[in-house]
Amino acid sequence: MFYFSKSKYCLLWQCPKLLWLNKNHPELKTNDPTLEARFEAGNEVGDLAMGLFGDFTEVTVYKSNGSLDIAKMIELTKKCISDETDNICEASFDYNGLYCAVDILHKENGGYALYEVKSSTDAHHIYAVDLSYQKYVLEHCDVNITGTYLVCIDSNYVRGEELDIQKLFKIIDMSEEVNDEYQNVPSLIEKAKRVYSYTEEPIKDIGLHCRDPYACAYWNYCTKHLPSPSVFDLYRMNFDKKVEHYRNGEYDFQTLLHNDKITNEKQLRQMLFAVSNQDDYIDKDGIKDFLYTLSYPIYFLDFETMQGIIPEYPGTWPYQQLTFQYSLHCIEKPGGELKHKEFLAESGTDPRRALAERLCEDIPKDVCVTAYNKAFECTRIKELAEAFPDLSDHLLNIKDNIKDLLVPFQSGYYYTKAMGGSFSIKSVLPALFPNNPSLDYHNLEGVHNGGEAMTIFPQIKNMPKQEAEKARHNLLKYCELDTFAMVKVWEKLNEVVK
Ligand code: SF4
Repeated sequence: MFYFSKSKYCLLWQCPKLLWLNKNHPELKTNDPTLEARFEAGNEVGDLAMGLFGDFTEVTVYKSNGSLDIAKMIELTKKCISDETDNICEASFDYNGLYCAVDILHKENGGYALYEVKSSTDAHHIYAVDLSYQKYVLEHCDVNITGTYLVCIDSNYVRGEELDIQKLFKIIDMSEEVNDEYQNVPSLIEKAKRVYSYTEEPIKDIGLHCRDPYACAYWNYCTKHLPSPSVFDLYRMNFDKKVEHYRNGEYDFQTLLHNDKITNEKQLRQMLFAVSNQDDYIDKDGIKDFLYTLSYPIYFLDFETMQGIIPEYPGTWPYQQLTFQYSLHCIEKPGGELKHKEFLAESGTDPRRALAERLCEDIPKDVCVTAYNKAFECTRIKELAEAFPDLSDHLLNIKDNIKDLLVPFQSGYYYTKAMGGSFSIKSVLPALFPNNPSLDYHNLEGVHNGGEAMTIFPQIKNMPKQEAEKARHNLLKYCELDTFAMVKVWEKLNEVVK
């Protein structure tokens, strides 16, 4: 018997090989550690949206082993429909092995409108693909579908004291796009049956579809034939341009260097350094000019943020980056002692006020502050200044005095082959300090990057005391390394111009 679902239908729509690999070799996927957190957040959004049309009946049923009891859910859905229930959530259907659970079925005009809930802030064509499959299954289960809609997040919403889900969500009528896609459903289902019957992996080359609509988890597997580095590692080249070079057989740096249409200096240098054994490139004058812009005392600042889809606190909005932590190193004078300060909010509370106050205590006005890729820190400080007008003067003074440690690298004053064309601190640091365990993020416990920090911090409020203390300790160590790394980078810049 052929069993299929809307998520598999969307995989097939993206790429038949993706569907086949997902069925036969899920172990070849590259796992994205933040995916689970995003999935959880998506579930929260789905739960919240259930109340959008008032009272509702949710048909989700679990078996004793924790898995969904699909048969019971289908049975309950049938009952709800015969009872003419106004709003059915997770309404479940099966038509000859084609299964789907609808986020919200809303009764209207003698039938039901189909609502698909997504945590994105806008409509994408893949949602019409998803809805067309659902409509096909439901119509073949004799449900009169009166409309197909997307429920997604309104990015303009700013939360008041209470969360207003009527304003948090926006509804987009997808009927036209869904009707266009609908005609493809029967042939795609036939195609899915064929793909499932293959014993050998289908042949499908990489291309634009590998990122559209989603970045494919099998990318590393499907690009294993490419040299390393390849065209796909080139600094700041659009993906479609990279695919174009790949299609023309230009995927190794030696070949790409002969293409005189590539004129971007940073890309050319990245390739030249990769194919030759060139020494580090150091423009001493450029680095000196940058260092002259800094003055003692020098502060090194780094923020960690979390990004919730549903705004938790008054005055915040969907997907806002809320700063919950900072690390701050400081050197008062030439040869002076390196001092360290830090702040980490209580998980489960609005971190902004306490953080803003402490930041003003820890960084005096009119001092030189450095950040690495300062646009991020500057934007967060500006948002804090807008939220707390009484601290605005001091906060904006800090913001206006921030200098960017990224400049010497991004401007091309300092480059080494090991940077691989990237100027992020995570690439620059190991390139400047290879084999230095104290500067290696891999040696940290629990938190190794901003994504992990962002995931772990909100979870602390639900952890037992000891586990929470450990998680807080790991967060502090991670953020401290970020600013310690900046200090070391600054020292290195001073050293190479001597
Ligand atoms: S990486 Fe591209 S070609 Fe490979 S399975 Fe994914 S979408 Fe298909």
